[in-house]
Amino acid sequence: MTEKANKKKGDSSKQKEKLSSLPAVDKLLMNPKVGDLVDQYSKKVVTKAVREAISITRERMLSDDEDIDTTEPSLISLIDDWLLRTHKTMLKPVINATGIVLHTNLGRAPLGRDILENVMRVAEGYSNLEYNLEKGERGSRYDHIVKLIKEITTAESSMIVNNNAAAVLLTVDTLSKGKEVIVSRGELVEIGGEFRIPDVIEKSGAKLVEVGTTNRTRLSDYEDAIGPETGMILKVHTSNYRIVGFTEDVSAADLVALAKKYKIPVVEDLGSGCLMDLSRYGLPKEPTVIETVESGVDIVTFSGDKLLGGGQAGFILGKKDIIEKIKGNPLNRALRIDKFTLAAAEATLLIYKDVEIAVKRIPALSMITMPYEKTQARVKRIVRRVNSVPHPGFDVISADDSSQSGGGSFPTVDIPTKVVLIFPLEISSSKLEERLRAQAPPIIARIAQERIIIDPRTITDREIPDLTKGILNALGAV
Ligand SMILES: *Cc1c(COP(=O)(O)O)cnc(C)c1O
Repeated sequence: MTEKANKKKGDSSKQKEKLSSLPAVDKLLMNPKVGDLVDQYSKKVVTKAVREAISITRERMLSDDEDIDTTEPSLISLIDDWLLRTHKTMLKPVINATGIVLHTNLGRAPLGRDILENVMRVAEGYSNLEYNLEKGERGSRYDHIVKLIKEITTAESSMIVNNNAAAVLLTVDTLSKGKEVIVSRGELVEIGGEFRIPDVIEKSGAKLVEVGTTNRTRLSDYEDAIGPETGMILKVHTSNYRIVGFTEDVSAADLVALAKKYKIPVVEDLGSGCLMDLSRYGLPKEPTVIETVESGVDIVTFSGDKLLGGGQAGFILGKKDIIEKIKGNPLNRALRIDKFTLAAAEATLLIYKDVEIAVKRIPALSMITMPYEKTQARVKRIVRRVNSVPHPGFDVISADDSSQSGGGSFPTVDIPTKVVLIFPLEISSSKLEERLRAQAPPIIARIAQERIIIDPRTITDREIPDLTKGILNALGAV
């Protein structure tokens, strides 16, 4: 035998001896600490973790020369890590540092604590979702909100479905299947990808009749299009874009007067569904739900998770006889609202009994109306904290910028905001953005001109410690 082969033989027997020092799966499972993990997860899950930890350790022993720790505490820490890494949800909270309040990719409106508490109360056990407690018989899931919506908006009747896209589809399908739907050419909008007004009308089996031009539509254009096949006039709020300049459109009130003459319904898709006038907070005047209902349209639809600030839902408000027809449409069964959303919607609407309270307690509204001074104070806090730890290679300062409300609301409005700017001096800004995204919780920031922008408008006070920790981590300062 050569010297080399001898050495190899010696190595492998040494390795064997080392490997035999690894505890067996059953032995590890008897360790009380592992027993605690079994209580927390399950025997099946933890057994898999134990096998993984042993296998990882074995691999390391075979590939490394260094002494690998094969004691039970070391293996248990591996088991713990593995469980933490693999036994968690993929859908998770992130810190929205973009300043876009109703960020569609980040889940639109965040829900307030009191709203969540109501969802928990209802979801944890059984509820009177479809049970009439007074009569002791079957009830309707829509009954819970009708009175409240009437009180807040004056709407005679109402119901809620999955989202506003469903609300429009269901309404058009109920009122105009096989008939014509008249829409102004200036209102044939697309709202993010799949939702296009012409397609929704086609899907509901109605025929689109376009009137007017992109920038100007008159009442006479509508009147000329009305015929025996007309099922409804649809007015769509052009949420996410603005036509400026030489424009003209017809108010809901004028459309209502015209439609009355021909006995056809007018439906308005409001999109964002603002329940209060936000012009007091420096934002442009948007038509509110109340104004739209009062204009006399037969049906108004809007989203639950845009300016209303609740969960994903589609509100349908209007005349009682039409709402009853919509409820009875078989398509409604496929689009109906679930109990979590209903609980969130009712709790959200309760807050709107007093709009002064709503701007404070509905997170989306309080973020959109947050005064510049508050963003300034937050930025000061974040910058001071981050700059209290050395972070060579990065400059962190405060600057003026603007936030957006998002979700197709106030598309042309820039809300003045103080932001944190991070200049990476040695790495690219996209590399830093990637590092921020890798934090726990992930920090989603904006990049502009090779700088990272952290906008405090969409960050809660509670998130600031995690935010500063994440920033410092990403800057390699911890
Ligand atoms: C956002 C929007 C919709 C779609 O609402 P979802 O709740 O996202 O389904 C439909 N119409 C208009 C005008 C919108 O702004």
